Amino acid sequence: NPILTLTDLKKGYNHGKPNEVRVLQGATLSVQAGEVVALVAPSGAGKSTLLHIAGLLDTADTGTVAIRGEDMTNLNDRRRTAIRRNDVGFIYQFHHLLPEFSALENITLPQMANGVRDQDARDRAMMLLETVGVAHRAAHRPAELSGGEQQRVAFCRALANDPVLLLADEPTGNLDPATSDKVFDALMALVRSTGLAAVIATHNLELAARMDRAVRLVDGQLVDGAA
Ligand code: ADP
Ligand code: ADP
Repeated sequence: NPILTLTDLKKGYNHGKPNEVRVLQGATLSVQAGEVVALVAPSGAGKSTLLHIAGLLDTADTGTVAIRGEDMTNLNDRRRTAIRRNDVGFIYQFHHLLPEFSALENITLPQMANGVRDQDARDRAMMLLETVGVAHRAAHRPAELSGGEQQRVAFCRALANDPVLLLADEPTGNLDPATSDKVFDALMALVRSTGLAAVIATHNLELAARMDRAVRLVDGQLVDGAA
């Protein structure tokens, strides 16, 4: 049973107006538990739009998103928010960590908002930080960390509440190539340690080749293979 099913998604901006931009034109994708899918396309092709719709941050004009087989189309706001918080982890190109909190606290806070006990939240945060190799930086604030370390902490935060689905939008796009490579290894270690389903957008074909399979966005539709 797939964790994520996108069926015939269509999305345009400026609907009906002469300058309408049709971004998604029937995008379909199914991702199983434990599967890491590369989403490859040039800038402007619609990767962010697709990920935002899959992660319930935006809605399609037509088509459906299902998570663990549950159709997300007609959910009330409360259920939708609960799924977005608990079942989906989102990683951006920029880390968006809270600057006034330590690395550890950035990972414990989302858990405590979900009612997890302080010590359990800390234990999980440390376990995640160890997996990505920055446990020794747990007490540091984001500004005291390198770009690569900041992004690793953001990966841990995305997995804080043990989601079933991870969506990442150019997760190493802001890093230099050597750092990007190492940080991508850390991300894969994290993903493999949990068995979650992941869709990782990248325009880097070397990174795409290290995932289980690739799909690319061509004229608003998803096609198998990176090239
Ligand atoms: P990518 O992530 O592949 O760079 P995006 O999903 O960000 O692509 O954007 C796809 C297209 O949709 C672009 O042409 C972009 O200008 C347009 N677009 C994205 N968001 C909006 C918006 N909120 N309003 C109007 N056009 C948008
Ligand atoms: P990584 O490859 O993991 O991103 P770097 O080689 O860039 O790490 O950085 C090595 C060390 O230098 C890091 O542990 C970090 O604490 C420190 N460091 C790097 N950049 C900065 C920065 N802008 N501010 C403070 N410390 C930094």
